Amino acid sequence: MNSTPISEQETTMRIFSHHEFDHHEQVVFCHDQATGLKAIIAIHNTHLGPALGGCRMYPYASEEEALNDVLRLSKGMTYKSAIANLPLGGGKSVIIGDPHSDKTPDLMRAMGTAVERLGGRYIVAEDSGTNVEDMLLLGEITKHVSGIAEKCDAEGNCRSGDPSPMTARGTFAGIQAAVKHRLGRADMEGVRVAIQGVGSVGHHLAKLLHDAGAKIFVADINRSAVEQMVMELGATAVANEAIYDQDVDVFSPCAMGAIINDQTIPRLRASIVAGAANNQLAEKSHGQALATKGILYAPDYVINAGGVIDVCYERSSMAQEQIIKQVDAIGETLHEIFTRAEAQHKSTYELADQIAEERFAS
Ligand code: NAD
Repeated sequence: MNSTPISEQETTMRIFSHHEFDHHEQVVFCHDQATGLKAIIAIHNTHLGPALGGCRMYPYASEEEALNDVLRLSKGMTYKSAIANLPLGGGKSVIIGDPHSDKTPDLMRAMGTAVERLGGRYIVAEDSGTNVEDMLLLGEITKHVSGIAEKCDAEGNCRSGDPSPMTARGTFAGIQAAVKHRLGRADMEGVRVAIQGVGSVGHHLAKLLHDAGAKIFVADINRSAVEQMVMELGATAVANEAIYDQDVDVFSPCAMGAIINDQTIPRLRASIVAGAANNQLAEKSHGQALATKGILYAPDYVINAGGVIDVCYERSSMAQEQIIKQVDAIGETLHEIFTRAEAQHKSTYELADQIAEERFAS
């Protein structure tokens, strides 16, 4: 396990009065002496079904930081599942440790035991720092695990667990809906899209956009990922910092969070922000700042729900075509949000929160 000493000040760590605590139903601290497991599972809300959410493994500098993350992320999952119309609540887990040096098969099995003890109130899946192989280890101990099934498309191309292609598909459907709403265009021919980050989701998204006739601009700190997009799709490579300044129709963040902020909003020339990255707005008020500037924002947790839809239904008998239909319906959900936000003079982010809350509060 990570040997980072936990600050002594943390003896005063608060839970119920924590600034990220928001009526969470259950917060469980999990420890296993033999493997050194230190984990927290947070179940935010189960009104719509069991709480599904990823297990993040990260070398948190403090227990406070880990608690902060799990409280915030589990709440986010409640909103994401509710807006995607899934029979799921919101939860998340974090393992305190470095996935590169602290992860062992037994530690993962111990995490499986921690999940199993909750009796199905929490369903675990992969997240940053964990992968399909880890989930298979948890699956030796608990059946409350998702994101592990092998999935094959009509052409016989198979993939195991990885939700990224479905996340990209949902994001593509969301971009189409935004283009239709803002630009009045039913097709993507010649629409200019700047993608920040062409990793697991971004590169699938770039291909979908390219196949639909869009003109792609890409930036990534990983040069080879950019070169691949230039070679495969004829994409235009852009320097990392310059991605915000591109003369494009759509800015599509697919890398990290908090990239919509006081510094970047004045630079954006796109009339649409629609991408897969989580927590794109540095502050909620930046959703309003985008609207004030006339930029249509597709709320991140709505447009990037393709992966959770995929992971949810992999546990059911739903046929792959039906799952795809549900993912494509992200476009319709966004259409509703765009239309109602305009009618009610609200930002799209506020409106999405409102719809999600109406659903899970009942
Ligand atoms: P990834 O790590 O596979 O890809 C991210 C890419 O962004 C990498 O290629 C990385 O080099 C690049 N990057 C990092 N910092 C950058 C920077 N400053 N400028 C430009 N590029 C940068 O991750 P992913 O699975 O593709 O996920 C991308 C985003 O989408 C994340 O915010 C993730 O939380 C979110 N998301 C992913 C999924 C999913 O199914 N994978 C689902 C929902 C949300």
